[in-house]
Amino acid sequence: MIVETIVVNHFQVNNYLIICEKTKEAALIDAGGDIDRVLKVAKKHNANIKYILNTHGHVDHVAGICDLKEKTGAKVFLHKDDQFLIGHYQNHAEIYGFQKEKTPEIDEFIKEDEFEIKIGELNVKTIHTPGHSKGSVCYVVDDVMFAGDTLFCESVGRTDLPGGSYEELKHSIENKLFTLPDNIIVYPGHGPNSSIGHEKKYNPFFGKSGLM
Ligand SMILES: [Zn+2]
Ligand SMILES: [Zn+2]
Repeated sequence: MIVETIVVNHFQVNNYLIICEKTKEAALIDAGGDIDRVLKVAKKHNANIKYILNTHGHVDHVAGICDLKEKTGAKVFLHKDDQFLIGHYQNHAEIYGFQKEKTPEIDEFIKEDEFEIKIGELNVKTIHTPGHSKGSVCYVVDDVMFAGDTLFCESVGRTDLPGGSYEELKHSIENKLFTLPDNIIVYPGHGPNSSIGHEKKYNPFFGKSGLM
C-alpha cells in the first residue's frame, strides 16, 4: 500500500490517498478541497481514485467531494449519523469560508458499527467512533489507521460542535482504538502522525493522570 498525505484548504486538513500497488485502485480519505493537487499525486502513481472515504461530515473534510466526484466518478461513503451535517452544509460552508453551491453527494451511508470496503486488494475496516461527531469513523488498513478528528498526536478532537460528546469520545478511543495493536500508525485529520502505543502512553487525556 502507498499512503500519500495531502494537506488541503485553510483548515489544513490532512487528506490521505491510499493506493493498492498491485491494481492501482485508490481511495481518498476525506476530500477537503484542492482537488487538482490530489489528482496530480494520483497521476504520479498511475492511480485511479475509486472511492472517497469520509471520516466525518464536517465542512473542512467534505468540501472537495463534488469536485473530485465530478472528475473521477468516485463513490462516496459517510457514516449515516453525520447525514444531518450534510444537510447543514451550505450554512456551514458560508460560515467557514467554503464554496456553498457544492453540497456533497453521498453515495452510501455506512450503517454498521464495523464495515469493510475493498480497495483493489486492500481491506479497509471501518470502525464507528462517535464523539467528535455522531458519525465519526476511523479506517484501518494493514498496520495504519486514519483517525479523522477523533484522535490526534497527543490530543483528541473537540466535542463542543453539534453532535459532539466528550463521554462518547472517551468511550470510543478507550474501547475501540486503544484495543488495537500498539504498532498501528495513526494518521489524524490534522497535524502529525502518531501510533496507538504512543497515544496510550503519552496522550494527556488518558491514563492515570488523564484529564478525562
Ligand atoms: Zn471535524
Ligand atoms: Zn477537521
